[in-house]
Amino acid sequence: MAELPRLLEGLDPEQREAVAAPRGPVCVLAGAGTGKTRTITHRIAYLVQRGLVAPQQVLAVTFTARAAGEMRTRLRGLGAAGVQAQTFHAAAFRQLRYFWPRMHDTQMWQLTDNKFRMVATAVNKLGMSTEKEDVRDVAGEIEWAKSSLISPEQYPAAAAAAGREAPVAPELLARAFAAYEQVKSRAQLLDFDDLLLHIAGILEASPELAEEFRGQYRSFTVDEYQDVNPLQQRVLDAWVGDRDDLTVVGDANQTIYSFAGAAPKWLINFPRKYPDATVVRLERDYRSTPQVVDLANQVIGAARERPAGTRLKLIGQRPPGPRPDFAEFDDETDEAEAIARKVAKLAKQGVPLSEIAILFRINAQSEAYEKALADAEIPYQLRGGERFFARAEVRQAMSALRTAIARDVAAEDLPGAVRELLVEVGLTEEPPSGGAARERWESLMALVELAEELVAEVPEADLARYVAELDARAESAHPPTVEGVTLASLHAAKGLEWDAVFLVGLTEGTLPIQHANTDAAVEEERRLLYVGVTRAREHLHLSWALARAGSRRFRRRSRFLHTLVPDEHPAALPSKNKVREQQQLIKPAKSAKPKCRVCEAALSGTMDIKLGRCRDCPSDLDEDLLTKLKAWRSERARQLKVPAYVV
Ligand code: ATP
Ligand code: MG
Repeated sequence: MAELPRLLEGLDPEQREAVAAPRGPVCVLAGAGTGKTRTITHRIAYLVQRGLVAPQQVLAVTFTARAAGEMRTRLRGLGAAGVQAQTFHAAAFRQLRYFWPRMHDTQMWQLTDNKFRMVATAVNKLGMSTEKEDVRDVAGEIEWAKSSLISPEQYPAAAAAAGREAPVAPELLARAFAAYEQVKSRAQLLDFDDLLLHIAGILEASPELAEEFRGQYRSFTVDEYQDVNPLQQRVLDAWVGDRDDLTVVGDANQTIYSFAGAAPKWLINFPRKYPDATVVRLERDYRSTPQVVDLANQVIGAARERPAGTRLKLIGQRPPGPRPDFAEFDDETDEAEAIARKVAKLAKQGVPLSEIAILFRINAQSEAYEKALADAEIPYQLRGGERFFARAEVRQAMSALRTAIARDVAAEDLPGAVRELLVEVGLTEEPPSGGAARERWESLMALVELAEELVAEVPEADLARYVAELDARAESAHPPTVEGVTLASLHAAKGLEWDAVFLVGLTEGTLPIQHANTDAAVEEERRLLYVGVTRAREHLHLSWALARAGSRRFRRRSRFLHTLVPDEHPAALPSKNKVREQQQLIKPAKSAKPKCRVCEAALSGTMDIKLGRCRDCPSDLDEDLLTKLKAWRSERARQLKVPAYVV
């Protein structure tokens, strides 16, 4: 058992004020890494140790199962085992199992294990598309509506007011939503949001059951409160009732789920709702070096609007460390390979792999990193996303490609042929605006770009060669491991920390994401970058590539980098049109291309650019050839003022 003073010892005066505040409303408004999560665990342990509350009377909610698990472990370590630290859903599920039979006189309905099938049944009844990604988008929209406490009837007006881009006409979506609810209740099944709706409904409808509930739970705590949505807030209100023993902590600058209905207004308005609340603001950042903190301050300092109560500047407490590093690459493969090398270097310096994370905006970005790490034999684990080659759309695409090979479909324009074949599995010309369809589109485009990359290296490659290449990539990926480098989306990285963090793919269209087409949406993207930056304890690397591997589509570095990138970094990049113009100029200039090192022939169809020789020529080449070729490309690119990949 930890001694009482120890619970206050490793804390600063403001954290201590929050921990030792009398029972009642407490609000900690503070930036990333200031010890909010640490403060609430200490507060719970402190109240328990002083005998002010029994562990089983405390309910602490967080937003991910992992965070809840970590909180339980920390509480055990602080002598407060037995506290319920759970996600909103897990807590509601447990409570509902107890209260449902009391309210309805029947056993609780089952939790559905296949919500998408029910959405599919519902949309099918209405004659709408049952394509997997369409169903997923409809399901996502229904989820938003339920989390926002919006009924099917209210949906069209509410969606318009919120500026939602519904995947189908809003009226049709409303009908699909109603049909889904009907299908589900006929089958006596519940989805995740129903758990919250039902527990709130029961506690609101029955004063006796609410009284019984509040006899059991007396003290409530919410971490990451800035990301609470209206449904979760309703549940919280139902739990707390007219009492006020509630501690909330959050950082409005880390609101990253507003697209799904979350809002920081409850956090910001907490002191107004509870005028007696102990309100604490923390400014000292214990997580990151001053260099990282400085960058975080710059990222969020550039925000167009800062919600009231968030004008906090972080003050780094740790000893200085390395300066954050910025790197620009010609293409994504170069970026991923360079990062794999940096990871290996850090590991050599003694940084454990489990203390290194590569964070990206969308899961489709993981492929290049899975491959680069696998090639470098560095174990990794993917958090909150499927491995690229396991994704449904990628598996479907592979099967369509194999069928085409069996049918002997001709391809020498390989990328064009791949693109055409992938249209069968849903690849559209323009990217869908968001949601699951967008993720799926990105995965399919990644396949087209892999074809472009392959023909850049092996111009005669055909479909069979291409599929063989994809198979090899799929096979070479390591099985997921627990000890490896973490690959995760920025959303999945919330609340976590690592010694070294790589923020990759920081280009326009990716961060901010292309469909962020309102100021508010762009601001949410900026907050995502802030969340990413503040995950790093010591080493922070930000990078971007000017093209996807082998692709000629030019990308610009993210607008968020403009004020951050040091002066010595490459100046403004040429405009898209300028690059196109240069590409036209460069294309015919074949004689300017390097010659095969062995036979001296000019670049031919069978030349392997990476090895710098014809594929049939002997391969006893020294290592520096590749370096020379790269130098040649960069020099020429520099002269032409274009990215090296167009040379
Ligand atoms: P986020 O906003 O990212 O969730 P947070 O405010 O919850 O961050 P914590 O995760 O609680 O921050 O703390 C960040 C790091 O700083 C942790 O490693 C924690 O142990 C450490 N820390 C917090 N407070 C102190 C302190 N007073 N002294 C030393 N270390 C501290
Ligand atoms: Mg935290």
